[in-house]
Amino acid sequence: MNNKLSCLVLICSTVFTSYLFAHTTLEKSRDILRSEPATALKMIRSVHYSSLSTAEQLEYTHLYVSSNNLLGNYADSKKWIETYPLPKINDETLIESLFDYSIRAAWAYEATQDYTQAMHWYRTAENYGVYLGDNDKRGYVYLQYSAVKSLQGNQYEALKLANEAYFLLSDSLDAEMVSDLYSQLGILYYLNGDYNNAIQFQEKVLAQALKDQSSQEIAVAHYNVANAYFKWSKVDFSQDKIQTASQNYQQGLKLAQKIQAKYLQRNNLLGLISLYSFSGSLSDASTRVQELLSLNLEYSGYSELSYHLVLADYYQAIGDTQQQRQHLLGATLYYAAPNKSFPAYALDKQKDIAELYASIGEYELAYEWLNKYSEHAIGRYKSQTQQKVKDLQSEIENQRLAIENRDLTEQVQIRFWLIATIIFVLLLSLGLLYQQRKKKQLFYQLSNIDFLTGLSNRRHIFEWGESKFTQHKLSSIIFDIDHFKVLNDTHGHDLGDEVLKQVSDIVSNATRKQDVVGRIGGEEFLILLPEVNKEQLAKIAENIRSKIATHSFKTKNERTLKVTASFGIAEHQSGALSDQVNLADTALYRAKRSGRNRCVFAT
Ligand code: GH3
Ligand code: MG
Ligand code: MG
Repeated sequence: MNNKLSCLVLICSTVFTSYLFAHTTLEKSRDILRSEPATALKMIRSVHYSSLSTAEQLEYTHLYVSSNNLLGNYADSKKWIETYPLPKINDETLIESLFDYSIRAAWAYEATQDYTQAMHWYRTAENYGVYLGDNDKRGYVYLQYSAVKSLQGNQYEALKLANEAYFLLSDSLDAEMVSDLYSQLGILYYLNGDYNNAIQFQEKVLAQALKDQSSQEIAVAHYNVANAYFKWSKVDFSQDKIQTASQNYQQGLKLAQKIQAKYLQRNNLLGLISLYSFSGSLSDASTRVQELLSLNLEYSGYSELSYHLVLADYYQAIGDTQQQRQHLLGATLYYAAPNKSFPAYALDKQKDIAELYASIGEYELAYEWLNKYSEHAIGRYKSQTQQKVKDLQSEIENQRLAIENRDLTEQVQIRFWLIATIIFVLLLSLGLLYQQRKKKQLFYQLSNIDFLTGLSNRRHIFEWGESKFTQHKLSSIIFDIDHFKVLNDTHGHDLGDEVLKQVSDIVSNATRKQDVVGRIGGEEFLILLPEVNKEQLAKIAENIRSKIATHSFKTKNERTLKVTASFGIAEHQSGALSDQVNLADTALYRAKRSGRNRCVFAT
């Protein structure tokens, strides 16, 4: 029992320790990956891949491929990529790692001119970037697309893609990424012969690398700056530029030695040899050739070509024709590989081969290589011209669409303004109509209403009465305030007006809704009553009379005043209103004569 338990504890602790070991090793390796890729690679080799979790397997894969890429061991990277398929990932948090890995995988293929596979991995990466909605990542992939196009010799397309990247990265806070963008733009300007811009971009990259204290990046930046100065010096024969180029190559070399990046040492040494051969510093060149040879590197691909060309150049400078011939032969072998697509800068080197052959009197071979070069150059310009024509066509198409769109927008705008104008005019007319109605109402009031009392005026009540006389079987009550002249004389005209108003109120309240009351003279009123019989008439008239007679009209000095009125009534009979009013008026006259303050029916 005890034995079993200790056995279990042992197994557990072993598993745990190995887990801990793997975990810390991967972490350490990641920390030093950029500065010491060789050490990083050595460290992870001690970890068992199959015992790792999915996330750690991905980390391992990334470290393995990255470190091999950094050391220039692309064959090892590719072997790994093709042997170990990506672990199955269900975890969304690992998408970023998948993106990173896809980029590193693409690099291995790009560096070995397998552009189809490289583009496959870049597209994979872009999909992850799109999935994450991350413009930085997408911009970065566009940068890589641009690099591939550039390698394929389409600098025009490459610049377009770099600009897309620039657009996507315009808000980026990722200094490293932006630095990569500058580096790519620097190289593109270099390839386009704009050395001034190329150097400016590379110096930005260098500044960032120095800030990050990344030896690898600093070395690469020095190398790129050096290349641009060297190429520039060939254009304007400036000693200063040669000097600056030389210094940068040397700084790059020193750092490359420090971090044991052999391919970077090689590149900087080749740069220096080329520069010394060109400037005639042959003993310096010789020293660097010895250094290069002592690196004991195996050359393949483009590095093989540039190695042979630089040395052929060097041997030409020191006049060793035999060695020159040998290296020229070595250089031509690069192009002999069957079914291989060459990067544009490699195809450009065919011109250098032609020149080197010409320098040793091999004019036939020189002609042959110049011919190959021009074929390639013409082909490249042809495809670039076609691309430009295509772009121009699509731009014209875009402009056409834009114009159509603008026309459409204009139509929409015109319609909008038309509708707006119509609505405005409509509202305006409605407003005017309303105003007119108001005016009409006012006019109606002004022309039909008695100002003092608010009752109908004489003209209106007669007009109305005449039009409705038969239809509504109108009856008439006419009354006149008694001794109104005396009241006016005694209490003043204003009080007289006040009495007229109050009498009007009394009458209005004592008549029905359908009855119409009007002031037809100074203190004389007419009431026209539709559909009433004699009793109703008598009742209404009597009611008004008594209300006036009992009402207390107040004087200015708070004394009350009694007022009476006399009434003449005419019941409806066929005929005309004027006749009926005359009859009522006669009755009123009789009421006055018989003592006032009474109602008298017309006979
Ligand atoms: P009677 O009882 O016979 O009707 O006598 P009366 O004084 O009422 O009649 P008369 O026709 O002699 O006088 C009417 C007066 O009414 C004359 C005039 O000054 C006055 N009057 C007419 N219109 C107005 C008015 O709008 N306001 C005032 N305050 N007085 C008016
Ligand atoms: Mg009167
Ligand atoms: Mg009168």
